[in-house]
Amino acid sequence: MTGATCAVTQAYEEYLAFTEERLCGRCLPCLTAAPLIIDIFRRLRQGAATSADIDQLEKICAEVFITALCKHGQKAVEKISRAIGDYRTAFETHARDKRCPERSCEKLLRYTINPGRCTGCGKCRDICPAGAIVGESFIPFRTDNHPYVIIGNRCTRCGLCLTVCEEKAIEVA
Ligand code: SF4
Ligand code: SF4
Ligand code: SF4
Repeated sequence: MTGATCAVTQAYEEYLAFTEERLCGRCLPCLTAAPLIIDIFRRLRQGAATSADIDQLEKICAEVFITALCKHGQKAVEKISRAIGDYRTAFETHARDKRCPERSCEKLLRYTINPGRCTGCGKCRDICPAGAIVGESFIPFRTDNHPYVIIGNRCTRCGLCLTVCEEKAIEVA
C-alpha cells in the first residue's frame, strides 16, 4: 500500500508499480489490458469516467485473472477487483459525482469562495495566474456589487489563492 488514502489512487498506484516493475509481456491478456486499465484509472481521477467504466474495469480484471500466465499478473488485477468490491462507493463518487472524497485527486478539487467570509480585498484575484477569479471590491451602500467568484473551468488548482486569503474564505472540496 502507498501513503495515499484515496482508494482509487491507491489501486492505481499499485497497478502502475506492477506495470513498471513486473509486467514482462510474455502473455497477451496481461499486456493488452494494461493500457486500458491505466486509461480508466486516469479518467476516474480526472473526472472523465462514468459508472460504466467501473464495470468495464471489473470485467477486464476478471478476464485477465483467468488468462494471465503468472501469479504477479493475477495478483495485480485481483487487487483492483478487491478495491472495487471494498470501496465501490469511493469509485462511484469519482465516476458519478466527479469528486474525490479524500481530496487526493487534484483534478477533482473544487475551489470556491464563501461569500459570508469574503471581504472583497481582491488579493486572490491579483495573484491568480489563470485569471480564474473575478469580482469587484466591496463598495458600501452600492446595491450592484459583484462578489468574488472562482470560474471552475479556468482554475488550475494551483492553490495560490489560499496562501493570500487572510479571511479563510476560499474553500476546497
Ligand atoms: S501475467 Fe505474468 S507472465 Fe503474463 S505478461 Fe503479466 S507479468 Fe508477464
Ligand atoms: S483574498 Fe479572500 S477575502 Fe480577499 S477577495 Fe479573495 S476570497 Fe475574498
Ligand atoms: S487555485 Fe490557482 S488557478 Fe485556481 S483560483 Fe486559486 S489561484 Fe486561481
